[in-house]
Amino acid sequence: MTCLVKYLRVGQCRHLECIAARSGRLAMIDFPSFCGLIQHPHAGWILFDTGYAEHFFTATAKLPQRLYRTALPINLPKEEVLLNQLTALGLTACDISAVIVSHYHGDHVAGLRDFPRATFFAGKVATQEIQSFAKTPWQATLAGKLPGLLPDDFEKRINYIDDYPTINLPEWMQPFSQGFDLLGDASLIAISLPGHSAGQMGLLIPDADGRPVFMAADACWSLPACKEGRLPSVLTNFFAPHGKAYEKTFIQLGQLAKREPEIRILPSHCESSWRLFKDE
Ligand SMILES: [Zn+2]
Repeated sequence: MTCLVKYLRVGQCRHLECIAARSGRLAMIDFPSFCGLIQHPHAGWILFDTGYAEHFFTATAKLPQRLYRTALPINLPKEEVLLNQLTALGLTACDISAVIVSHYHGDHVAGLRDFPRATFFAGKVATQEIQSFAKTPWQATLAGKLPGLLPDDFEKRINYIDDYPTINLPEWMQPFSQGFDLLGDASLIAISLPGHSAGQMGLLIPDADGRPVFMAADACWSLPACKEGRLPSVLTNFFAPHGKAYEKTFIQLGQLAKREPEIRILPSHCESSWRLFKDE
């Protein structure tokens, strides 16, 4: 089942380079956000995350949420707005039939409100966490979560990835062994990537126009650093409360990336992976 896949750059924030990889400089760098656009032969147009969107600015207008954008200043040029990029591809918001959510950090879900017809897929624990955060805005903000980004009818549209059948992954995906078959045809397989954020999921597309694509969300921020085993700075423990699990996922991803260069691994913020994929 061949899917067509695009990887779109949707806004960026600025922060210290040393946060993304140990031995990085103490200088401010742009930290882009990417999201996946998938054309499935039967299920139509599907997104993997949404990147930033105008809703982000509304959701962070007041304290305490304002702290989020003060700490990580956001830039979203017009041409990178996801809806504008879809328009340029001849699509409308209503063409998007589903959004697969890797996790609920604001830079991954800011555009959910833009897709009125979409069904949402996300991990159960992750979803329960952001819903519970609606009552504790300070805690939510410190965890990088903005419940205000969820559409009003979110509960009617959410499907828990964990409820889908598990399938064994192809041998070449080792050390990752199992995933959730989202469409029942093994074309889109969600893979648990614990550690960075509650219930984080990646997405494997075994046949993305002839090659496998693995969208790895925030399991690592820089694929070159991941291959070299350079973990992000300890500063990022602030954003990744489950350090040991993060480290394990990071090492597994690095092993896979080194052994299987044919798999297009696309972390959500890795500019060099995006460039390679785009230029092919
Ligand atoms: Zn994240």
